[in-house]
Amino acid sequence: MSTHLYQKTASELSTLLEEKKVSAVEVTQSFIDRTNAVEDRVCAYLHRSPEHALSLAKASDKRRQSGDTLGPLDGIPVSLKDILCETNQPLTAASKILENYTSPYTATAVQKLLDHGGVSWGRLNMDEFAMGSSTENSAFKITRNPWNLACIPGGSSGGSAACVAAGQSPLSLGSDTGGSIRQPAALCGVVGMKPTYGLVSRYGLAAFASSLDQIGPLARSVEDIALLLQVITGYDPLDSTSVNVDIPDYRASLKDSKKDWVLGVPKEFFADGLDSEVRNAVEKAIDFYCKQGAKIKEVSLPHTDLAVPVYYIIATAEASSNLARYDGIRYTKRIEPVEDSIELYSKTRGKFFGSEVKRRILLGAYVLSSGYYDAYYLKAQKVRNLIRQDFNQTFETVDALVTPTTPEVAFKEGDKSLDPLSMYLSDIYTISTNLSGLPAISLPCGFNSDKLPIGLQLIGKPFQESTLIKIAAQYEQQHNFTGLATL
Ligand code: GLN
Repeated sequence: MSTHLYQKTASELSTLLEEKKVSAVEVTQSFIDRTNAVEDRVCAYLHRSPEHALSLAKASDKRRQSGDTLGPLDGIPVSLKDILCETNQPLTAASKILENYTSPYTATAVQKLLDHGGVSWGRLNMDEFAMGSSTENSAFKITRNPWNLACIPGGSSGGSAACVAAGQSPLSLGSDTGGSIRQPAALCGVVGMKPTYGLVSRYGLAAFASSLDQIGPLARSVEDIALLLQVITGYDPLDSTSVNVDIPDYRASLKDSKKDWVLGVPKEFFADGLDSEVRNAVEKAIDFYCKQGAKIKEVSLPHTDLAVPVYYIIATAEASSNLARYDGIRYTKRIEPVEDSIELYSKTRGKFFGSEVKRRILLGAYVLSSGYYDAYYLKAQKVRNLIRQDFNQTFETVDALVTPTTPEVAFKEGDKSLDPLSMYLSDIYTISTNLSGLPAISLPCGFNSDKLPIGLQLIGKPFQESTLIKIAAQYEQQHNFTGLATL
């Protein structure tokens, strides 16, 4: 059976490019062709720009010929969640309100990957303004799970996970406010990482909840995550929450053979509501680490139950303020004629925001309103601190925590879209790390009896991404759950 270039991981492609066995144009063309063949079934992209990609690939080949390559990412295609700015490219955040918007500038994370020769080639579907867990909240299309087209890919970075699982792009960027990289990565059988808050600049990421949002990589191997993470991290004066820390060599950390980790298993993450096949797969992974020499320690994060309600107060409060800028005056569309500006705002926002976005804005405005601020918003901030303290205490005795990424595997389209509360519970295991600013990675750890992928989550100490990469790679080297979905 011949292997196509699109079947290879970014690191494998990088080696082939380095050895001059293939050109960046051939690599890019392979992903364009694959996408042409499967996109009508997967629906991962909102916008594709093959000419733009091929011109970036040509420039990469030219650099290589003259010995001026920009590193291991040079010539590798990367697709972007449609919430990250790139100059002169469309950005909709999957919302009608930004339908004809074009970015006037480039996000720092995107600029960094372009500066390292990354070939940006398409913009990916998502839940509107990153609010959702299934990509069904996109105003434009529903992305399907490449492992079973009747199922959703997860969300909100559903396009970012599906395109990697389907071989349409070896790498993608997503954003994670409450689980939006890790949950779709788990449901699509790919690897996804939410870095520590402040490690990757948020400049040029359309804001949802600014104290929680982080940009991060999705890929088909842990090494590929290291490759892309390396490039997008680093201090940025344009983001006041960007942290100035030394960036280690993430790929080099893969060579570390340490195995005697102390891994914490938080008992609250294995309570009622966890699907039994997911539980079995995760317990098997924990067993694997134990057999390899890790010390497994049961730990408790007693405020875990409160993470979802606290998140839906803080995230909606921040969203109601961040989304106030889409008023019909600035950015794109507006409804006219109107009597006055109030009517312009309300008609424009009423017509062009989807129902989940409106629900969040209303909730957020409510919890911030005078009389309710103390009872909801302030109280939520206090509980957020307790959740953080739970983690801080636990990390005094463990190197990382091991949990399921999601309580269940990918669900069928339409199954939860009429019940926001059950949708919100999809992120029950991912949200507390955002509230605490911690890094976490999801990697595939098996399939259920319907051949749907299961995700394992590792949560780390602040700025200990390299520890997560080492622990994840140790598992990946001995298991083979990271193949492409057969379409
Ligand atoms: N599903 C969660 C929400 O709807 C998380 C979204 C995200 O991480 N962007 O808010």
